Amino acid sequence: MKRKPGGPGRYMPTMAHICGYDGGSNTNPTCGKPPTFHIFAGTPESGPSDWATFACDDHLNQAQALAWDWHAISPVCGVPSTMWQAKRMQGEGFCYWPEAEAAIHEAAAESDRERANSEA
Ligand SMILES: [Zn+2]
Ligand SMILES: [Zn+2]
Repeated sequence: MKRKPGGPGRYMPTMAHICGYDGGSNTNPTCGKPPTFHIFAGTPESGPSDWATFACDDHLNQAQALAWDWHAISPVCGVPSTMWQAKRMQGEGFCYWPEAEAAIHEAAAESDRERANSEA
């Protein structure tokens, strides 16, 4: 995938969960360490979709200098069909998985109903 020189890291396939830092060159090997942060690199000049990667503690600074947004890694980061939810400030966003979110709210509503029934 084409990208600007010095990008925050290589595109990582869904569920890869390794640090994509490669020193700004597509021909360098990637770092490959377990990541601590999820990095939104932006929209590539060519390519199918927005481009996200991951960064380990050692490469977070390099990624933050060039990335659009980032957040601490969560269990849904990199899961297919998750959506990047940006907030007003960089670093405040999160990944959002609509199906999981719906299930959580349905379970909460169900337990609320059960509680209301048992109290009645
Ligand atoms: Zn790294
Ligand atoms: Zn994420």
